[in-house]
Amino acid sequence: MIESLTVNLGARSYPIQFGVNAAAAVRAEVDALITAGRKVVVVTDRNLANAQRDTLETMFGGQPMLVLEPGEETKSLTELGRVLDFLAEHRIDRGGALFAAGGGVIGDLAGFAAASYLRGIAFYQVPTTLLSMVDSSVGGKTGINLKAGKNLVGAFHQPKGVFIGTGLLTTLPPREFAAGMAEVIKTGLLGDAALFAQLEAKTLTVESAELGAVVRRCCALKAGVVEADEHETAKEGGRALLNLGHTFGHAIEQVTGYGHYLHGEAVAIGLAAAARLSQKLGYIGAVEVARIEAVLTAHALPVKLREALPLAPLMTAMARDKKVRAGALRFVVLKSLGVAATQGDIDPKLAEESFREVGA
Ligand code: NAD
Ligand code: MG
Repeated sequence: MIESLTVNLGARSYPIQFGVNAAAAVRAEVDALITAGRKVVVVTDRNLANAQRDTLETMFGGQPMLVLEPGEETKSLTELGRVLDFLAEHRIDRGGALFAAGGGVIGDLAGFAAASYLRGIAFYQVPTTLLSMVDSSVGGKTGINLKAGKNLVGAFHQPKGVFIGTGLLTTLPPREFAAGMAEVIKTGLLGDAALFAQLEAKTLTVESAELGAVVRRCCALKAGVVEADEHETAKEGGRALLNLGHTFGHAIEQVTGYGHYLHGEAVAIGLAAAARLSQKLGYIGAVEVARIEAVLTAHALPVKLREALPLAPLMTAMARDKKVRAGALRFVVLKSLGVAATQGDIDPKLAEESFREVGA
């Protein structure tokens, strides 16, 4: 029942294991580590600890567990300090292993703690949100936020393994499931036309028999992109392609204040805007834009801003986005449904018009 996929990064390669229930596989890994004389600690959040008490007990029963407050604010210097102190209190040495059981917040924070504690200890991802299963648990980006902005401090630190049990998603709030679907749809759009067509033919829900296969497909695509450009240094394409819709999305999140839109919701509107930009550049037609919006809408995602936003701050935020190099507006555009490319020197007027068309 458990299937596996390898992220091939030479000495940093690791398996991603998939199943409806991954608890036994996690337990086996924990037991193997302990048998080898290595200590195991766990970081999770309170929502998980409440909603998945039994599963966490099966996976980690007997190991020290730090339960943090849920929410983006947890990705902070203060909470990083708590995780590091927790590791020290339990006398974790270079052979110790940290398991992150939770969404992207816990994965990013605990991963960064594992990257920096004793200059790096082993860590494992047990993602529990759709977004973390298809996106944040794979690829080795870890980090925290500063007051000045999101993800400003971090490290590349690949996990030793990723355990994905899609059965955990039954307790995830529907709005969070939809937010994860934005990254799934993004994945289809940027590199998997058949996945996009599948989502178009049949809306994916937490009950869908295809859920596990879809998650796996997203991980496979991300793994391939990461294998080719682990540290996001490619001049064109590479990991930056995973930011399709994100330049617009980040601007929306920044201008509205984080939390007003979930990240996936902002990305959904961003995908609609990126589709319109790609249309203006002559790559796709109105029919394709409509198909993209229909798939987003079918998956309970917005394609227009809930309330109009002033254009000027949105454009300023986009110019400041870290994916924008040397002043020229740089975007990930769609060449067709399933094929994305990075493109620099985009006339800001086109981006502005695209923003206006999604409600700015
Ligand atoms: P999250 O971690 O905040 O989880 C969303 C909510 O769901 C939280 O309230 C959480 O407590 C709850 N939850 C999680 N699993 C649950 C379950 N099975 N049942 C019930 N409730 C559950 O959010 P997220 O969307 O998973 O992650 C967002 C974070 O991921 C952001 O900080 C973002 O920057 C980061 N991210 C990182 C990468 C990367 O490559 N490292 C990629 C994308 C996003
Ligand atoms: Mg994202």
